Amino acid sequence: MSVVATPFMGTLVNGALVQGSQMSGAAAHGPANPLRQRGQHEVFCGLTSIIWLHRKMQDAFFLVVGSRTCAHLMQSAAGVMIFAEPRFATAIIDERDLAGMADVHDELDKVVEKLLARRPEIRMLVLVGSCPSEVIKLDLAKAAERLGRSHGPTVRFLSYSGSGIETTFTQGEDNFLAAFAKDLPAEPAGAKPSLIVAGAMADIVEDQFRRIFDAFGIETVSFLPPRASTAMPHVGPNTRLLLAQPFLGETAKALESRGARHLVAPFPLGEEGTTGWLKAAADAFGVETGRFAAITDPGRARARAAVARHRETLAGKRIFFFPDSQMEPAIARFLHREAGSEIVEIGTPYLHRAHLAAEFAMLPDDVFVSEGQDVDRQLDRCRAAKPDLVVCGMGLANPLEKEGIATKWSIELVFTPIQGYEQAGDLAELFCRPFARAERLKVRA
Ligand code: SF4
Repeated sequence: MSVVATPFMGTLVNGALVQGSQMSGAAAHGPANPLRQRGQHEVFCGLTSIIWLHRKMQDAFFLVVGSRTCAHLMQSAAGVMIFAEPRFATAIIDERDLAGMADVHDELDKVVEKLLARRPEIRMLVLVGSCPSEVIKLDLAKAAERLGRSHGPTVRFLSYSGSGIETTFTQGEDNFLAAFAKDLPAEPAGAKPSLIVAGAMADIVEDQFRRIFDAFGIETVSFLPPRASTAMPHVGPNTRLLLAQPFLGETAKALESRGARHLVAPFPLGEEGTTGWLKAAADAFGVETGRFAAITDPGRARARAAVARHRETLAGKRIFFFPDSQMEPAIARFLHREAGSEIVEIGTPYLHRAHLAAEFAMLPDDVFVSEGQDVDRQLDRCRAAKPDLVVCGMGLANPLEKEGIATKWSIELVFTPIQGYEQAGDLAELFCRPFARAERLKVRA
């Protein structure tokens, strides 16, 4: 086993072929009756989420236990780092490990030993499973336990799967947070109500929300993932859970199993989504209506004005979503209601009905919804519909652009600060860029 941490360019699109059936044609597939597709799908794997997770948690190190392909994906997705040593690496499972000539657990222990000697600032070491580690059934949970006994309590060990077998890239964050949530301490007896906000957001966005929660008078607010791995909020029956991202089914389950109560809300995208999201917290903590309005009205007005500047470009534009980030329904709701766009199809890899209930309540009943993917059939629907803009993964964007269809990479939605009132204009602007680019190309031609 060897470690790769050197930047190297490469790319990967993961596909899998699973037999199944799907209905064809634009039958009535609204939110209550989505088209379920189980065919070839095009997504990035869950390792991708390490890119934003390692930036968020400054004392954590993510060690992927995988193949050279995994290392290439990581280095390519993270870009080239010249001035700082990255806080992620790949422990490569090589031929000797696969042939059983070496004990993979011993090899992993040696890699970890070396890593911790070299990087004494690491406080949390996360073992990330991959397709190869799953194929050889390497038990990383056991490895994390064993390493925790030899290196704890200075270093905490955690494991989760970022494997590309049947996942989408945002599931990496979900699996990580679910693993993190299991280790949280239990609420002490008589604990006051507290709020956990789950889902990685840019620090600047978190700070804005923290100021609003402070103004509401909510005393104990924690964000997951935290900026430091040692910040471990209590969880129990007095914990209220607000999801900041729509792809956290496992995380919510883990926190709910510890007693936390999920607050049903839309996601904090755009003026309406942010207001609904904040209102869920305000209601749970008894903030009265007048006070809520006084605190949120200025932000709401700024958000409306910022989005209005982009409405001329986006109003009436027909938008087609391929399944990728799991943010598709919430983004479609924002574009439809606040920017006046027409939604042709909302494709999403998974549809968590309870978590998306508030989103679909704001979308038309007959909006076309599909869950999962059968990529060729979906491409046929897309071409037939001739949308003005397609929101999709990077693997589909280039071929569609070549066919003259404007695209937006959905992965940008996790790398760009888009939540909250102050970012509503930026969120709208992201979808204007492909149209501005097309205009510029026309002028040059
Ligand atoms: S985890 Fe699987 S899909 Fe992801 S890079 Fe490694 S081999 Fe490829």
